[in-house]
Amino acid sequence: MSVSVPKGYIGRLLRVDLTSGSMKEEWLDEPDLRKYVGGTGFGIRYLYQEVPPGIDCFSPDNRLIIASGPLGGTRIPGSGTYSVSTRGVLTGGAAFSQANGFFGAFMRFAGFDGLIIQGAAEKPVYLYLHDGTAELQDAAHLKGLDTWETDEALKAELGGSKTTMSVACIGPAGENLVKFAAIVSDRGHIAGHNGIGAVMGSKKLKAIVAGRGKQAISLHDAKRVSELGRQIVDTMKNNPQSRFLYNYGTLGNYQVQERTGGLPIKNYTTNIYPDKDKLEQFTPDYIRGRFQPKPEPCWACQMHHCHESTITEGPYTGMVVEEPEYECLSAMGAQIGNMEVASAMMLTNVVDRLGLEMNETGWVIGLAIECYEKGLIDKEKAGGIEMNWGNVEAVRAMLQNIAYREGFGDILAEGAMRASFAIGGEAPNFAIYTKKGNTPRGYDHRGQWIEMFDKITSNTGTLESRPRVRVNMGEMSPEDVVDAATSGKGRMSFVDSLGVCFFATMASMRVLSEALSAATGWDFTVEEAEALGLRIVNLARVYNIRHGHTRELDAPSPRYGSTPVDGPFAGKTFMPSFDHMLDMYYQKMGWDEKTGKPLPETLKRLGLEYAIKDIY
Ligand code: SF4
Repeated sequence: MSVSVPKGYIGRLLRVDLTSGSMKEEWLDEPDLRKYVGGTGFGIRYLYQEVPPGIDCFSPDNRLIIASGPLGGTRIPGSGTYSVSTRGVLTGGAAFSQANGFFGAFMRFAGFDGLIIQGAAEKPVYLYLHDGTAELQDAAHLKGLDTWETDEALKAELGGSKTTMSVACIGPAGENLVKFAAIVSDRGHIAGHNGIGAVMGSKKLKAIVAGRGKQAISLHDAKRVSELGRQIVDTMKNNPQSRFLYNYGTLGNYQVQERTGGLPIKNYTTNIYPDKDKLEQFTPDYIRGRFQPKPEPCWACQMHHCHESTITEGPYTGMVVEEPEYECLSAMGAQIGNMEVASAMMLTNVVDRLGLEMNETGWVIGLAIECYEKGLIDKEKAGGIEMNWGNVEAVRAMLQNIAYREGFGDILAEGAMRASFAIGGEAPNFAIYTKKGNTPRGYDHRGQWIEMFDKITSNTGTLESRPRVRVNMGEMSPEDVVDAATSGKGRMSFVDSLGVCFFATMASMRVLSEALSAATGWDFTVEEAEALGLRIVNLARVYNIRHGHTRELDAPSPRYGSTPVDGPFAGKTFMPSFDHMLDMYYQKMGWDEKTGKPLPETLKRLGLEYAIKDIY
C-alpha cells in the first residue's frame, strides 16, 4: 500500500543496517507523521519502539536516529539543523542533541528526511548520501583522524566543498567510546550531549556525508514560508532583546554571567573572578576586533553569529579556529582557571577536533584540577601532567589522553560523575552533574534557579524547558521557580522537531506553528505545537522510567546543589525546598507525585495510550 506524503516532506527515511550493510526506505502514515513531525519527535518515536529496556547503549541494537524536519532546507533561518536521538551513554535514558550548520538541509537535498541507523559494522565505514542514493564506503583510511581532518579528507575524496557537501563525523573520542564524545558537523556545529558520538563510534560509523543534491522540497505555500522567514529575521534584528544575539551570537554572555554570578569559576569553588584586568579579553569587541573574524553563517541564516577566527596573539598565533560560543569560553576559560582568551580559543579547537562535548569536558577537567590541587591525585597518577588551575598546556595534554583513553585520561573519559566515583575520597563532592549522569550547560546555575531546576528534572539531564518567564534572579519563591520551569515545557522539543536552529528562530511558537502549516498545508495551531512538545517530553519520561530512572535521579550532585560561598548569591539556595518543589512539579506535569510516572490520563491526553501498559 502506498503512503501519501504531505507537502514539506521528501517522504523518505533511510534505515541503514550496518551489520548486514543493507539499506531500505520507509515512511510514516500521515496521522503518525503529524503526531511526531520530525527531528526529535521522530527520534523518540523510533527510540521508544525499537530500543526497549535491556539494550545496552553500545549494543548494535541501539539506534542512532538522525532527522531534519519539515522546515529543513527552507527559507526559515537556520534550517540546516538536524537532531540526533539515541539511548544516551551518560544517563542510560533518552538522549537528544541538535547541531546547526548545513547537514540537515543537505541531507534533505540529497533525498532523505532522516536516517535510522542500527547494527554495527565490522570495520570503520562512512555513509555517503547523494542524489537520492546512499552508499556505505570503507573508512579505514579515516581512522584516527580528527573531525576537521575527516571533513577535509572526505571533501577532497568526493570532490565536495563547503557549499556542496556537509560532513557529520566523529573524532578519536568517538572512536574510543569516550562517554561524552560528540558528532561534529561542518567543523563547528556539534551534536554532543549524552555520548551520542560514542554510540556512533560503537557502530564503527566514522562519518555521514550529505552531498547537496537537487532534491526539491515541495511546500504547500512556499511564498508564505519565505515571508515568515523574513519576519523572523526582522524580529531578530530589531527586537532589543535579540539584537545583541543577532550581532554577536553568544559572545557577550561571558561578561553578563561574570557580573551576575552565572559564570562557573574553578569548578564552583568561588564566584569571584580572579583576574578582573583580563576580563576585557572575553568581550565581543576584543574577540571580533582582534581575531580576524570571517562570517560562516549556517543554511539560510542572516545572523552575524558563527565565524571563523585566527588567533593573532600569544603562543598560539596563527591557529585557525571556530569563534567560540559562550559555553566554550566558560568551559575552557573561568571553569578551568584560565584567564587568557587566546588559550581558551586554542583549547576549544582541540576539544572540537578530538570530537569531545564541550560542557562535560569543562566539568571533567575542572574536577581533575580541583582533585589535583587538593591532593586527591598526584602528578604520577595524572600521568606526569601538572593539573593546576589555568595550566593550559597540561589541559591540552589531558584532552589528548581523554580522547585516546590513555592513563588517567581513561578515568576522565567516563564523564564527571563516574570519574569522581573512580577517584574516590572527596571527589564525588566536587563533581558537577545531575544525578542521571549528565552535566549542565556551562553556567553556575546556583543563582539561576529556573534553569537549575529544569536541568535537574529534565529527561536528558540537561536543558529541556524554555520558560516563558526568563527571570533567573535566584530569589524567587519555590512556587515561582516550578511555575516558570513547567510553563515552557515542550517548547524546545517542538522546535527541535522542525529542523531549525533554536537561536535563529528564537523559538517563537506562533511563527513556527504558522511556518509548519504553510510548509505542510496542515492547520497546525500553537496548542498542537505545545501538545507535540509535551508528547515528546512525556514519552521520553516513560522511556527513562522503563530504563530504570526513578525520582531519586531527579536530583543534583552535592556540588551542583551546593550554596555559593561568595559572589551575588552567597548563602542562597533553593535546596531546602527541593522535595516540595519536586512534588509540585510532578503534579503540574500530570505525573505521579511519588514515582514521577506520567499518569494514565496524561498519556491518554497526549495520544500516548500505548505507553500506559509499559509502566503500569
Ligand atoms: S543562529 Fe548561529 S547557529 Fe543558528 S543557524 Fe544562525 S549562524 Fe547557525
